[in-house]
Amino acid sequence: METTGFTENQLMVREAVGHICARFPNTYWREHDQQEQDPTEFHAALAEAGWLGIALPESLGGAGLGISEATMMMQTIAESGAGMAGAQAIHANVYATQPLARFGTREQLRETIPNIISGTWRACFGVTEPDAGLNTLGLATTADRVDGGYSVTGQKIWITCAQVASKMILLARTTPRDQVARPSEGLSLFCIDLDRSQPGLDMRRIRKMGGRAVDANEVFFDHYRVPAGALIGEEGQGFRTVLHGMNAERCLLAGEALGLGYAALSKAAAYARERVVFARPIGMNQGIAHPLADAYVRLEAAKLATYHAARLYDDSRTDASKQGAVGIAANSAKYTAAEAAFTACERAVLTHGGMGYAAEYDVERWFRESLVPRIAPVSREMILNYIGEKALGLPRSY
Ligand SMILES: Cc1cc2nc3c(=O)[nH]c(=O)nc-3n(C[C@H](O)[C@H](O)[C@H](O)COP(=O)(O)OP(=O)(O)OC[C@H]3O[C@@H](n4cnc5c(N)ncnc54)[C@H](O)[C@@H]3O)c2cc1C
Repeated sequence: METTGFTENQLMVREAVGHICARFPNTYWREHDQQEQDPTEFHAALAEAGWLGIALPESLGGAGLGISEATMMMQTIAESGAGMAGAQAIHANVYATQPLARFGTREQLRETIPNIISGTWRACFGVTEPDAGLNTLGLATTADRVDGGYSVTGQKIWITCAQVASKMILLARTTPRDQVARPSEGLSLFCIDLDRSQPGLDMRRIRKMGGRAVDANEVFFDHYRVPAGALIGEEGQGFRTVLHGMNAERCLLAGEALGLGYAALSKAAAYARERVVFARPIGMNQGIAHPLADAYVRLEAAKLATYHAARLYDDSRTDASKQGAVGIAANSAKYTAAEAAFTACERAVLTHGGMGYAAEYDVERWFRESLVPRIAPVSREMILNYIGEKALGLPRSY
C-alpha cells in the first residue's frame, strides 16, 4: 500500500501493531481457521500492549487516539495475514465501546472500560436478530423493567465472539412498538454481563464459511435478568446511541477489507513474479498483470474513501457540523472497500491457478473471508438504499 499522506500517528500505529502481528504468522491463522480455535493469544498480545484502548479516552486508560488510527490498526491486523478472523477477534472491543465511552455512567466506565482494555473481559455486539434481519428497528428482543432491573427475552443471531465474551453491548426494545411514535424510539442500549451460570441465557455456535477461528452464535435470552445499571445512556434512546458505534464499525470494517485486499494482492503479485509457465513468469502476461493492477487501483481509491470517513468521524466529535456527513462517508467507504477487497481476493486465487485452491497459499482463506465485509455489518443493497435516499434524495425504498 502507498502510505504517503498518512499522519505520524497512523504510521506509528501501523508499525507498532505490525510488529505484534509478525509474531502470528500465516501458519497460526491457517491452523486456527482449520481447527475453529479462538486466537486467544493474539487478543492477549494486543491487549498487553494496550492496543484495545486505542480509540478510548486517556482519562479511561485508553490511548486517546481516534477511529482514524483504529482503522489503521484493523487494516494492519488483516493485512498481516490474520485476515477477518484476526480483525473480528478484536474489533467489537474497539467499536462497541464507543457508545459506552460516550454515554456510559461513571460507574460503567470505571468498571468496564479498564477490563476491556486490559483484555480481562472481551466484548461482543448484539444487534442482529433472525426475524428482523437488516430491519434493525423491527427487532423483537425485549428488556422489561422488573424489580429495579430488566428482564431480557428474545434471540440474537450471528453474534461474533459471544462464546469468549464476558460483556455484550445489547440493543433491545424497552417500550413496545405500538406505544411509540416512531420505530426508532423505545429501543435501549445495554452493556450486559454474559453470565452463563445465570438462568435464561443460552448460545449455539454457527458453522460458517470463513473466519472460522472466531465463533459466531445464536444467543437466546429467556427472562435473563440484568441490573438497571446496565443501561447505556437514556432509556428509549438506544438507537441514537448505538449509531455512534455503527459508524465507527463501518470505518473499521472498511479498513479490515483493505487489509485483506492488500494482503491477497501482495501474495498474488509475488506469485506472478515467480511462477514460470511457457518459459516466462506468469506476471509477464497482461491477462494476469492487468487484473492485479486494476485491483490495486480499486484498493487505493477505497483507501481514500476509508480514511476520509474515519477522519470525518473523529472530527464530528468536536465539530457538530460534520455529523451529517459521517453516515454517507462511512457507508460509502465500507461499500467501496468491501468490493475492492473481494475483487483483489478473487483475482489472487485465480492468479495462483490450482494452488489458489490449496490452503497452504492462504489466498483461499482470505477469499472466503472477503465475503464478510460485503454482507456485514450492513449489506451492499442496504448501503445503496441508504445512499439513494440520503445522498441523492430518492424516495426511501425500505
Ligand atoms: C461473519 C458474520 C459476523 C457477524 N457478526 C455480527 C455481530 O457480531 N453482531 C451482530 O449483531 N450481527 C452480526 N452479523 C450479522 C450481520 O450484520 C447481518 O448478517 C447483516 O446485517 C445482514 O442481515 P441478515 O443476515 O439478517 O440479512 P437479511 O436482512 O435477511 O437480508 C438478506 C438479503 O436481502 C437483502 N435485502 C433485505 N432487505 C432489502 C431491501 N429493502 N432492499 C434491498 N435488499 C434487501 C439484503 O441486502 C441481503 O442481501 C454478522 C454476520 C456475519 C456473516
